[in-house]
Amino acid sequence: MSIWMEIRCTVQGERGAAGQCVSNHNGGPMGFASGVTQEAVLEAFKVLVAEAKQHKWKKTKDGFICPICIKNGHSI
Ligand SMILES: [Zn+2]
Repeated sequence: MSIWMEIRCTVQGERGAAGQCVSNHNGGPMGFASGVTQEAVLEAFKVLVAEAKQHKWKKTKDGFICPICIKNGHSI
């Protein structure tokens, strides 16, 4: 058993212009946790957040926005 984790863009699918959204192309930060423990999931989450920041995703109170949607003027 393993746990797949992925950060999805909150704008994805909400508007027509979001068709270029990274999440629409399954290109965001993603990967398996190293185990099924709480610690493994938290560690995997930290890695995904670091990867999101590295690739210019923006964290908001509602989640993350991909760099393409930011470029298209979406922000919260
Ligand atoms: Zn997006």
